[in-house]
Amino acid sequence: MSDVPPNPSNKPPCSREDALAVLGRLRQAGQVAYFAGGCVRDLLLGLEPKDWDVATDAPPQRVRALFSNTQAVGAAFGVILVRHSKSVVEVATFRTEGAYSDGRRPDAVAFTDAEHDARRRDFTINGLFLDPEKREAGSDKREEVATPDGVVIDYVGGVEDLKNRILRAIGQAQQRFSEDHLRLLRAVRFAARFAMAVEEETARAIRVNAPRLRGISPERIADELRMMLAPATRAVAWPMLWSYALIDVIFRFLPSSEGVEFDARRSLFLRVAPGRAISFGLALAAGVLDYRMQGDHAADPIAFVTRKEIHAAARAMREALRISNEELDEMVGALEPLEHLLGPAEPALAIKKRFLARPTAGASRELIRAIASLGLHGERAGRLEAEFDELAKGEVAPAPLITGDDLLAMGMKPGPAFRRVLEAVYDAQLEGRVGTRAEALAMAKTMIENMKT
Ligand code: ATP
Ligand code: MG
Repeated sequence: MSDVPPNPSNKPPCSREDALAVLGRLRQAGQVAYFAGGCVRDLLLGLEPKDWDVATDAPPQRVRALFSNTQAVGAAFGVILVRHSKSVVEVATFRTEGAYSDGRRPDAVAFTDAEHDARRRDFTINGLFLDPEKREAGSDKREEVATPDGVVIDYVGGVEDLKNRILRAIGQAQQRFSEDHLRLLRAVRFAARFAMAVEEETARAIRVNAPRLRGISPERIADELRMMLAPATRAVAWPMLWSYALIDVIFRFLPSSEGVEFDARRSLFLRVAPGRAISFGLALAAGVLDYRMQGDHAADPIAFVTRKEIHAAARAMREALRISNEELDEMVGALEPLEHLLGPAEPALAIKKRFLARPTAGASRELIRAIASLGLHGERAGRLEAEFDELAKGEVAPAPLITGDDLLAMGMKPGPAFRRVLEAVYDAQLEGRVGTRAEALAMAKTMIENMKT
């Protein structure tokens, strides 16, 4: 895969070497300890794991006693962070989880053995352990598979599913999604990221439980979507969100496209920067626009980027996802210029230059290219593209020839008229109608005098 999904938790780094040292120390002390979950899956897929999580039969208190530098982040769940050298290694005690009454977290956990710990995990591909010190599988043990990295311990059929690229819930799919609704999004994320087919029972359970995604906190939904929709594999994830009707929960605060059949050929989202990772803000901008356009194929996309529409979209995303201001600003910033750039009147040179000076110009241009590739506004888009490339070679945002201080010196008082004069003079500068500071001052003076009469 060409791009690494962002790490929303900002977890400190964890190297294989340091994780091995932590694992070794637990074993020296007579404990069972394995690598667990994502890192085992990634190794078997030939990918470089980003974290090396350790699972052990040592209870949390014992883990804390064995290492000098620990932090109990989820002590109730048996998760201890162990600082070793430059790494922070997550050490989790084997556990089973009791009933889930809130659709998010188990009411209680109990410490147990590796097999039960494997069964409480979400998908078979995530339910594997690795014994890195063992080279040969025990001959009488069905669940052991020798690999170059050590012996994989598989209680859930994950090795086979990985080989066949199948995403399958561990145990009863219906129950697994109804106890923790975040798994609905995790399923889509993993299936898309690893190009896996979702097993039939699992797929059915996702569809049935999709409306329950509402019960998950906006922050956690946003974390999942960020990892799902920024990488290039978003092209696989996006149609899945539609086919499982998860999309209607995510965009439930926008005018509904519920029941609409997703049409990939008319999808704006799929045409934004194909094959490349994009920012989450741009992904949301494309998502919002596609959601509306899928609901009304006849409409011009410009209808969905008016100030009013963008304002409503920003509110809808803030409520459903509670994303950072930077991400929201990027989404809004990417959408805002489209109305004027693609509108009926050819935009003036100053508007184009001001546009290029925006931090989100690149994102807007990606959207314009995608709109054009749908066969919409193609002529204008082509012209803009060429012109933007040309303009970008020069200086698009030169320092203004005059500032507010000059107007104050002319005796003008700050206010709306004050700003209007500065903007008009700057536009004239961007368009080459004034070239020197003296010309700019003269223009301002004329404007001020005209205002008085
Ligand atoms: P990534 O590479 O995206 O971090 P990961 O598999 O490491 O993938 P994490 O969210 O870091 O995923 O979780 C680590 C492991 O914990 C998973 O592999 C899985 O076994 C288990 N797990 C995490 N979240 C859940 C959940 N909601 N339900 C059940 N098991 C979970
Ligand atoms: Mg992980």
